[in-house]
Amino acid sequence: MKRRVIIVGGGIAGLTAALRLAERGIAVTIFERDAVPGGRIRTVRPAADLPPVDWGQHLMIGAYHATLKLADDIGSRATLMTATGATPFVERDGTHYPYRIAPLPAPLHSLPGILSLGHLPLSTRLGLGRAVAKALFAHRFDRATLDTLTARKWLSQSGQGERALNGFWEAVVVSTLNTPSHEASALPLATVLARGLFGKRRDALNILPRTTFDESLIAPTVRRITDLGGTVVTGRRIVRLTVAEGRCTGVIDDTGARHIADRCILTLAPWDIGPFVADVPHLERLRAVSKQFVPSPIVSVDLWYDRPWFAHPAATLIDGAFHWIFSHPHEPDGYGQRLSLVLSAADELVTRDPAAIATLAESELRDRFPAARDATVLKHFVIREPRATYRSRPGLETHRPGPATALPRLYLAGDWCATGLPATIEGAVLSGEAAARAALDDTAHD
Ligand SMILES: Cc1cc2nc3c(=O)[nH]c(=O)nc-3n(C[C@H](O)[C@H](O)[C@H](O)COP(=O)(O)OP(=O)(O)OC[C@H]3O[C@@H](n4cnc5c(N)ncnc54)[C@H](O)[C@@H]3O)c2cc1C
Repeated sequence: MKRRVIIVGGGIAGLTAALRLAERGIAVTIFERDAVPGGRIRTVRPAADLPPVDWGQHLMIGAYHATLKLADDIGSRATLMTATGATPFVERDGTHYPYRIAPLPAPLHSLPGILSLGHLPLSTRLGLGRAVAKALFAHRFDRATLDTLTARKWLSQSGQGERALNGFWEAVVVSTLNTPSHEASALPLATVLARGLFGKRRDALNILPRTTFDESLIAPTVRRITDLGGTVVTGRRIVRLTVAEGRCTGVIDDTGARHIADRCILTLAPWDIGPFVADVPHLERLRAVSKQFVPSPIVSVDLWYDRPWFAHPAATLIDGAFHWIFSHPHEPDGYGQRLSLVLSAADELVTRDPAAIATLAESELRDRFPAARDATVLKHFVIREPRATYRSRPGLETHRPGPATALPRLYLAGDWCATGLPATIEGAVLSGEAAARAALDDTAHD
């Protein structure tokens, strides 16, 4: 008889685990509490006449090797596009600095972009390269020390002055770790620099979906899982694990139904795990560890304009109320262009009224871009996600759990697991693969 694995949570970590198990002949069932799969990369429909949009603007880079392999495996790679043009840094007065990844061998590919950042004095720009070199060295030889320091402290110790910190590093840290530099660990920053931005040239390039991440990753993974005989149940919350003879034997859902399995994989975010494992034997430590992962918000605003006016795929706003702008290629008739503005670590903005956030976004664009003053916003949609990722604080790295738990036959996946990467789509995919491997290795001993 086929082995049966239950996966709790239908985000990208759970879907990846299910796919990899289904490919190996395991009977998988995913239980997802929401009406749609995808978790933090689900799509939503803002209005009847608008197409679905992602639950907050998401971005990948070429270093997302596992996610790109997943896209290959599910046949959706063509729905992802690599942005090779300039991603300008834009000043408050509208001055553009055309940051781009140059066709040069690593790490020189970043040099012309850094040198073009004219809002910083030349000596500061050259100094950025020194910090990068130190980060790459420390990432290789001294990770333990990096995880004891905040990114800001480590950058200061590496010779970065206030101008470099505020005019460059803060944007890098906040947009990659969703944590301000005075709070973020230096270790994940060094990882991002070594494996992404200053790794191989193609690893540093931005990758965006042509439409949504649902079309690129979620829907095709669900299709492939069901083609392989798996089941994805949505709108069904799992309320408890069942345990017998000291091991996990299945789950109970919110209708009271009991589902039996040979193995279970929990893919919940850390803030959902605690209550779930509260009275389960052997999982006291997991509960305590999960409490150390504190959520950090992201605010994302979609603006539909009557005409296209923004010519770049993306831009960084220097000292802005938002960090990034992204433009989207396909819009329905009657709309000229959709732009998304994003603010990470948005602790203050996330509490504001959506209409006020949309007005702020619109005026930010009008202030910086003369072309925006002639365009009209026809619709807006604001996403306030208070629990976008965990805050990447010093010391947390050692607490990130691996795929095995202290309860036999129960595994863990999710972007907070020990993948060596920050909380990202790529980290979640890697964690799903690790959990599937661990469960498979274990079933081989049955
Ligand atoms: C606005 C925003 C912007 C982001 N931007 C980026 C970006 O640009 N690049 C990037 O790489 N990452 C980004 N991220 C982070 C990325 O979305 C996450 O790291 C990733 O999606 C996490 O996937 P996961 O499967 O680990 O967790 P989740 O997606 O949270 O999946 C867990 C699932 O478990 C379900 N669940 C919880 N409890 C139960 C229960 N009791 N029973 C059944 N189901 C349950 C939840 O509903 C959820 O679907 C962003 C996140 C947000 C919110």
